[in-house]
Amino acid sequence: APTLLWFRLDLRLDDNPAMQAAIARGKPIIPVFIYDEDKDWPLGGATRWWLHHALADLQEQLSCHGLKLVLQSGDSAEVISDLVEKHEIGAVFWNRCYEPRTIARDSAIKQQLKSQTIEVESFNTSLLFEPWEIKNKTGNPFRVFTPFWKHCLAKSFPKTINCDLGATKVPRAWPDSEILDDWKLLPRISWDAEFYKFWKPTRKAGLNRLRQFVKDAVHDYGNGRDRPDWDGTSCLSPYLHFGQIGPREIYEALLGKVDLTKGGPRQYLSEIGWREFSYHILYHFPSVPTEPLRPEFEHFPWEPDDQLLKAWQKGQTGYPLVDAGMRQLYAIGWMHNRVRMNAGSILVKHLLQPWQDGARWFWDTLVDADLASNTQGWQWTAGCGADGAPYFRVFNPVLQGQRFDTEGDYVRRWVPELAKLPSQYIHQPWEAPDSVLAAADVKLCKTYPLPVVEHQQGRRRALDAYEKLKFFH
Ligand code: FAD
Repeated sequence: APTLLWFRLDLRLDDNPAMQAAIARGKPIIPVFIYDEDKDWPLGGATRWWLHHALADLQEQLSCHGLKLVLQSGDSAEVISDLVEKHEIGAVFWNRCYEPRTIARDSAIKQQLKSQTIEVESFNTSLLFEPWEIKNKTGNPFRVFTPFWKHCLAKSFPKTINCDLGATKVPRAWPDSEILDDWKLLPRISWDAEFYKFWKPTRKAGLNRLRQFVKDAVHDYGNGRDRPDWDGTSCLSPYLHFGQIGPREIYEALLGKVDLTKGGPRQYLSEIGWREFSYHILYHFPSVPTEPLRPEFEHFPWEPDDQLLKAWQKGQTGYPLVDAGMRQLYAIGWMHNRVRMNAGSILVKHLLQPWQDGARWFWDTLVDADLASNTQGWQWTAGCGADGAPYFRVFNPVLQGQRFDTEGDYVRRWVPELAKLPSQYIHQPWEAPDSVLAAADVKLCKTYPLPVVEHQQGRRRALDAYEKLKFFH
């Protein structure tokens, strides 16, 4: 009786415990990927693009071992039940996901298979620690990052799983498979030209990026992580999201090569910790993708406004750092973390738009769109989540630009209509004398907008709105 190996957000063959369990079982393996759209969080355009290429890559990796990736679309429970029946499957293995709807679905599938006396097991390959393994002194989940991560660091970190890929057995007959191209995950209107320049969405490319980052950038990560104008971060987030690389592999790539107890490497590891923390929160508080963790924020006086939201989405807020970020996001499906914080802050503070609207836009446009990390990022920005930036701390996007994009290179790259402005004015074009604007071909309100809300006014309005919340504390 063959083993059904169900791939999900674990699109790699190494360090894959479900794969290893399937090999160890000694029976032919049928790998399957099911395209089963989450009704609440259907894949965004950017993640569809990534998924297409990651699946093509996985097909290639499997074919090196004589295996095919069976593609099926529809309700996962029905697809599995059908495969089990038609192909006399003896065991079903997969690696766990942590989105609330997925947990409910997988638990039901597990129960069903057990009742049919089919062997069924799930494994952990996308986190260092399972969310239920980490508890504070009172036995409850953590809500603050620092003690959470301290607790994790005191535990021994898991090792990668060796998969004996030479021992895979191939089935005599293959189930029917749909064709990847027929899923039409790639855009019909080609907005993805820059994606191809920036990304190679294969496991091999992810491993190369990791190797390069450990060699060149992790030492200075303490600075690099804040500089959108440098290549100072690893850009591994989409590979991590799709499981083309796992956190255990990252840990091992660092171990022995750098001192993980200080400087850039320590900081980098703690960012992997933030990812873990995001999953911890999502698992223990499953309503966070749509509801604030701090309930008083349900009463926040947001002022939804389609035009403001559109200006932000298009990178037309008049704040160059933010606009550069929003355009980078649209062009390559990724934005530097420092700029994500600023772009998010402008939306929820200066523009008083609900954080959920920002989260939805990021969900649709990020190649690393991840329910746990995106929710955590937005709730952090809006000050309504676990360990968030307090709402009353309002970023000044001009000062942030001057501090972290000192020469304005990042703005020049993504907001070309400002490219000729001298660095002194690049983060505040409205302060430039007319002669400077004319020499740089900038016509304010025509080629580039004035700020949609003036900073001090936006800040004041945000703080007034926050004041109203006190009533509910
Ligand atoms: P690096 O700096 O190289 O960090 C290494 C890895 O650590 C990242 O790949 C990521 O997996 C993890 N990481 C780093 N920072 C964070 C963080 N603050 N929270 C959780 N994990 C982190 N990250 C996503 O992966 N998906 C999202 O949908 C997402 N949405 C965000 C939304 C907002 C509003 C904000 C402020 C942050 C969001 N982040 C998200 C977190 C962070 O911005 C990205 O993980 C990071 O920019 C990815 O780039 P990198 O791989 O070069 O990161």
